[in-house]
This record gives sequence, structure tokens and C-alpha cells, in this order.
Amino acid sequence: MSKNLKDLELDELKKLAVSLGAEAFCGAILFEWLHQKAAARLEDVTNLPKNFRQALQAAGYFSGNLRLLKRAADTSGAVKYLFALADGQKIETVLLDDEGRRTLCVSTQAGCKMGCLFCATGRMNFKRQLSAGEIVDQVIQTVKNERFKIQNVVYMGMGEPLDNYANVWKSVRILNAKNGQNIGARHITISTCGIIPGIEKLAAESLQVRLAVSLHGATDAVRGRLMPINKKYPVRDLIQAVKNYQQKTGRRVTFEYIMLEGVNDSREQARGLLKLLHGIGAQINLIEYNPHARTDFKPSSRKTLKEFRWIIADRGFAVSARFKRGQAIDAACGQLYADN
Ligand code: SF4
Repeated sequence: MSKNLKDLELDELKKLAVSLGAEAFCGAILFEWLHQKAAARLEDVTNLPKNFRQALQAAGYFSGNLRLLKRAADTSGAVKYLFALADGQKIETVLLDDEGRRTLCVSTQAGCKMGCLFCATGRMNFKRQLSAGEIVDQVIQTVKNERFKIQNVVYMGMGEPLDNYANVWKSVRILNAKNGQNIGARHITISTCGIIPGIEKLAAESLQVRLAVSLHGATDAVRGRLMPINKKYPVRDLIQAVKNYQQKTGRRVTFEYIMLEGVNDSREQARGLLKLLHGIGAQINLIEYNPHARTDFKPSSRKTLKEFRWIIADRGFAVSARFKRGQAIDAACGQLYADN
């Protein structure tokens, strides 16, 4: 059983308090101190009975703080944090500030098994899953460090969230809790490379989080070249799963599409995308690729990107283009590697 107190939801903390001979409300106080006041040590929670704190410590419980190793900011409003986990593994978290609208991009795994060819994280070995508390604490430590509230959380950092479903979903519930960070479900986005069973599970959840799907190609030939997962979950099956998800939830889905020169940026791919997404309430995000030393891909030209966007927008799809942000500090999409 995990001893990280941030892995526990409010009810679990209350039960723990009772099991250690304290009143249930002590668990509620502890939850607030961990999630709202970012208590670094149990000794800091001075309004808890001393014998309860001592019982927690004696049972091996700890507050589960990530250790901030490095903070790097650039002029685009991006900040990258390098955190150490309790066992020394490293992860990265990225903050994007759009004139006061702050979005935190959290990691869900140390490394990733998916091996997407354009992604630096995909070139790392998979180290381990992050616990719910380790995901949540990326938000808590950022809020503490920057002294402002985070409005949106996107599960788009290192790792594939739906490959760590139980911990990811628990972290969503904890972040959503009223006496915690209190981040509205509609301000939380889970982004997947296309794990169909995970999309099916998400469709059955009651919290209305948003779903983003990394598509990056309109055909199996193109997508399969970039994303090994396409072998297991080919394009048609993935799109059918998204349609089922939408039918069940009525929620709009975002498709991410990273623009790579000469790979997936042709007019045929744009038209293929239109055909594929016909009938789906979708937002399409075209992402300007951020080159890095670990791949040979090049970004599409701005002209190509604009033309691609125009073809899609012309058919009435909501399409936006996300230009490079955080590139100077290796914090942009596909650049996270946790090596410095
Ligand atoms: S893009 Fe996402 S799923 Fe693919 S390798 Fe990178 S972190 Fe993993």
C-alpha cells in the first residue's frame, strides 16, 4: 500500500484517520493542508492532534512532495519544471501562461512505452508509472512556487495517460475535489495517442473531462510511420471509438495534428482528415513541430501549415494552429526528456 498521503482521496484520508485512532475530520483537515496549503511536512500541520501526526509518521506516511530541481522560463510565457520523484526518477511539467489564463501540462509516467517517432519522451526508456499523488503534486508545487492558481490541467506531458488509467483517473478526482485544488472537470483534458480501451473507459466516467486524441495522420500508412500504436489501434477503429465516445458523452473531441514537412502535411492528408472526421464534433489543433536533436523531422513551412488549415476550415471544422512555444527551453510539444 502506498504511503504517499497525496495518493489518498478525502474519504480515504478520513478512514485512515479513524483507523489510527483520530476523528474522521482530522483526515479532512489533513487533505486541505496537503492540497490547498501545500504542507511540506506533517509537523507543519499544527492544528492536527500531535498523536495523530506521530501515528501517521510511525506508520510510514509522508506528504509526497516532489523536489523541484530546475525551473526554466522563456519569453513565450512557458515555464518548464524538472522534478525529482521520491525514488530519484525525474519528470518534467510545463506551465503555459496566456495573459493570465494558466494551463499546466502534467506528466503521467517517467518515460513512455509508446515510442512515437517525433517525440523525445518516446525515445526514453519507460521507467515507471506515476502515482495519483505524484501527478497531483505537479499542480500543487507549481501553484506554491508561482503563487497563482492554475485554471486548466492538460495530461499531455511525459507518458501516455491512458496507459496509467487508474492513477490518472484518481488524480483527476483529487484535483477536482472542492477542498483541494478544485479544478473543474471541464478544465481538465486527457490526451491520448489512441488507446481505445482507455477511451471506452473514459466514456463511462461521470466527470465531464475533455478528451484530446493525437492523430498526426489521416491514413494508416502515414500515422503508422509516426506512431507504433497505430498497429494495435488503426485509424478506422480509433475514429469509431471516438464516435462512440461522442455518442455516449455528447462532448466535443480535440484532435492534435503535428505538422511534419513532407510526412503528413500534404493536401491529400488534409482532405483525408476531412473525410475521416466527417460527422464528428471536433476541434482540430495543428501543432507546429519543434525540432530536437533526437529526431530528423522538420517542421512544415508556415505557408504549408496555413494552406492545410485553410482546407480544413473551409469545410466548417473548428481548427486552430499552435505555434512554437517553449522551444527555447525544450518545453514544447514532443521535447520533454527530463535530462537536465
Ligand atoms: S507523444 Fe505522448 S504517447 Fe507518444 S511517445 Fe511521446 S509521450 Fe509517449
